[in-house]
Amino acid sequence: MSDATPIAIIGAGPAGLIAADVLSAAGRRVVVCERMPSVARKFLMAGRGGLNLTHSEPFEHFLTRYGETAPRLKPILEAFTQDDLIAWANALGAQTFIGSSGRVFPKAMKASPLLRAWLQRLNKQGVEIVTRAAWTGWTEDGALQFANRTPIYASQTLLALGGASWPRLGSDGSWRDILVARGVGVAPFRPSNVGFNVAWSEYIRRFAGEPLKSIAIQHGERVVRGEAMITEYGIEGGAIYALSAELREQAPVTIHVDLRPALSVTEIAAKLECTRASDSLSTRLRKALGLTPLALALVYEGGPPPREPAALAARVKAIPVRLEGPRGLDRAISSAGGIEWKSLTENLELEAIPGTFAAGEMLDWEAPTGGYLLQASFATGVYAARAMLGRAPALAASPLH
Ligand SMILES: Cc1cc2nc3c(=O)[nH]c(=O)nc-3n(C[C@H](O)[C@H](O)[C@H](O)COP(=O)(O)OP(=O)(O)OC[C@H]3O[C@@H](n4cnc5c(N)ncnc54)[C@H](O)[C@@H]3O)c2cc1C
Repeated sequence: MSDATPIAIIGAGPAGLIAADVLSAAGRRVVVCERMPSVARKFLMAGRGGLNLTHSEPFEHFLTRYGETAPRLKPILEAFTQDDLIAWANALGAQTFIGSSGRVFPKAMKASPLLRAWLQRLNKQGVEIVTRAAWTGWTEDGALQFANRTPIYASQTLLALGGASWPRLGSDGSWRDILVARGVGVAPFRPSNVGFNVAWSEYIRRFAGEPLKSIAIQHGERVVRGEAMITEYGIEGGAIYALSAELREQAPVTIHVDLRPALSVTEIAAKLECTRASDSLSTRLRKALGLTPLALALVYEGGPPPREPAALAARVKAIPVRLEGPRGLDRAISSAGGIEWKSLTENLELEAIPGTFAAGEMLDWEAPTGGYLLQASFATGVYAARAMLGRAPALAASPLH
């Protein structure tokens, strides 16, 4: 292989593109191969929701969001922190702000300006991006093989092929069989950050598309405050997503929605007692608690509500909703499962295929929405790229160079 043999990056999502940034900034020749006609489609889709880049909470707390994979991700997230990601976005002209929930967004609230500036920089750094190049494995002599173009010889390869959610954006997990055939352990994909089916009454279905704001959802010992959205099929939104990993495994399962988490049962009962007993129950609930028509409908969903204030208050704070099961991978924000950690070295190199690294959502970790998905995708991309440069990934001085 000549000196000019490039490093190949397969998959032009956040993980692959940031690795291309690190490697090309260090003077390496990089070619990025992407199966879709354009790059970073899921990143652009994330931009439709404002592009929640990361979260501003303290690192120790931030790390816990990755559940049992936190120990493996710790050195990786320490080597490219929340602040590093913000500095990287700032350097590309995307000023960020911290929203009320602590989430970090670009001020533009979309991905396209950031992506444009990023692609310009990659172009200046000499990165070649080949679209409509669907990777299918390796030739007998070790070249990277594509469905619709000639093979590429690479000095090293980074696979950044994404998970298996929202496949029409390009990441469909079809790489699984290719890697399993080469002896790489891949945990089955499961939908993560996903809505759940609920057998709503016709009446509740009329509210499809309406949010339930400032609620809490309780499941067992866990209580998550946030928002949810009633849909034709059931329920989705941040508060549900935060619990989706455990709910997915236990469905069908009943959760409880607290419509007024800031008030205790006693406080709600006291407010109800101050309303006119001759008014209808709906009027009393609306006047005492300011419940929206959707929230009122939920109070009635499980049958006639009790009239006695304390019992009614208890209903408002714990409306049972039976989740039949999670929606499929095709509409999940992310996927659980992927390349098992035991198949990777500490440097994110595949044990079974030396010289081939992996990063991003294709690794076996999961996290709730809130910026955790992009942060880990970026951080693993940076980490793998630094390892490919032969540097100690955790010791590099600045975020990218
Ligand atoms: C609707 C939606 C909203 C989201 N919002 C947020 C958010 O606000 N904040 C957040 O943190 N996360 C969000 N996410 C999740 C986040 O976008 C992903 O976790 C992240 O994009 C994963 O990055 P990645 O580079 O690993 O994979 P991807 O972004 O999936 O990129 C992988 C790339 O590889 C390409 N590819 C796949 N197979 C092949 C092949 N065989 N050959 C060539 N190319 C291939 C794909 O086409 C794709 O371009 C959202 C996701 C969705 C669906």
